[in-house]
Amino acid sequence: MALYPFLCLVFCLTVSAEFVWKHHNNEELPLVLEEVHQKCPNISRIYALTEPSVCNVPLYVIEFSDTPGFHQPYKPEVKYVGNIHGNEVLGRELLLGLAHYLCDQYLKNDRRIRALIHSTRIHLLPSMNPDGWQLSTDTGGRDYLIGRYNNHSVDLNRNFPDLDAITFEFERQGINHNNHLLKDVTRLAAPLEPETRAVMRWIMSVPFVLSAAMHGGDLVANYPYDESKTGAPDSDYSASPDDDTFRDLATAYASAHADMASATRRGCRTTGADDSGSYNFGKQGGVTNGAAWYSLKGGMQDFNYLATNAFEITLELGCEKYPHAKDLSKEWERNREALLAYLWKAHIGVKGIVSDDSGFIQNAIISVVNITGPVPRPIRHDVTTGAYGDYYRLLTPGHYEVTASHPGYFPVSRVVTVPENQTSAHVLNFRLEPTTSWFDDEIGFGVYPHASRDAQPRIYKRSLYERVASTMLEDKDHKH
Ligand SMILES: [Zn+2]
Repeated sequence: MALYPFLCLVFCLTVSAEFVWKHHNNEELPLVLEEVHQKCPNISRIYALTEPSVCNVPLYVIEFSDTPGFHQPYKPEVKYVGNIHGNEVLGRELLLGLAHYLCDQYLKNDRRIRALIHSTRIHLLPSMNPDGWQLSTDTGGRDYLIGRYNNHSVDLNRNFPDLDAITFEFERQGINHNNHLLKDVTRLAAPLEPETRAVMRWIMSVPFVLSAAMHGGDLVANYPYDESKTGAPDSDYSASPDDDTFRDLATAYASAHADMASATRRGCRTTGADDSGSYNFGKQGGVTNGAAWYSLKGGMQDFNYLATNAFEITLELGCEKYPHAKDLSKEWERNREALLAYLWKAHIGVKGIVSDDSGFIQNAIISVVNITGPVPRPIRHDVTTGAYGDYYRLLTPGHYEVTASHPGYFPVSRVVTVPENQTSAHVLNFRLEPTTSWFDDEIGFGVYPHASRDAQPRIYKRSLYERVASTMLEDKDHKH
């Protein structure tokens, strides 16, 4: 008991800590997260990804939710990933600031923040590349490339399995299969780095719906695909099936930012008064398709979309990769509304639960046709249900036919209208009826050539993609 007042004193001092805008080093970063958690223990949780960086720095995440540590049906999960390139540091500090802000505003009874945290599970990974950050910082933070890579000199945003190549090949062959493609990977172009592996395991194990990765060096919200379909190095718009939705997501960030979408701002690499020779993304609403800018293989953004149900965009947060510490609070003001507006985007479209008489159905397929215009347009990218039979299908306003299907059941289709300005997705639940035994799975519902060929137990089974991912990742471990 005698120790208690002392502990309380330490605790109280910690609790009163104010967030300071500066470049937090790798030792300070978890302390900042711990301060937030101590202030807001009931709505936050700190955890580290399954493996640390090459130099053994843990990859810390802070989660906000009213049920920290647990997924709940109807509650979408979102993530922000900062500092994947070690010398692009603004995202790292913005996420530490965002963590403080969410906690402080929650405690101040900010209705919008409380509603967000009660309806959304938010994960913030301030630094995916702490080793690169260290090198960049130790060398003055001014170089365009030093510190970009991890400690094995690998660009982490080129180190993910290239699922674009698989989906483009399926497109060429006329095979309608554009999701959960990790199981179709036969070889990797390069060994997976520990940071990549940690983030892949995270991506595959949490049912994320929405995500953004933060970079620096330009000012634009970039959306899939990053890889061109023709092999052209740049200027080759590479549309995904969800092009409308991705443009809407990127625009949500850009237009809520102080000047990302401003048509009158200067481009980042202009030299004189005339910037016609370089990209000025302000003149195109602050957004770009990835490959329309330049093509890259093995990026994290397209991996999210093609391996899981998550929709990820890439945020280039400013011309300066390593801004001066004195400019960080100004950058926070410029980005704050955009960061919040984007989190709310987890609530667009439709969501629901797929079940039968005996319970939830995992890995049911949700496919969508856009019937807004005169000609129905199938969106050839399905999402699947998770551990509670729940799904989240981000969509722009319009009319849609949504179909739930699963081998062994009759598919069910329903028409739905997605309204403007949603703060909660339209709820659309499905109850499926089993087919009779003579109506075999493979006759009726062979939608995907590889899906569920064996008779898998349909309820409460482990997620297919989680299992495949872990199998694949184990294999790679042996090669190191
Ligand atoms: Zn970058």
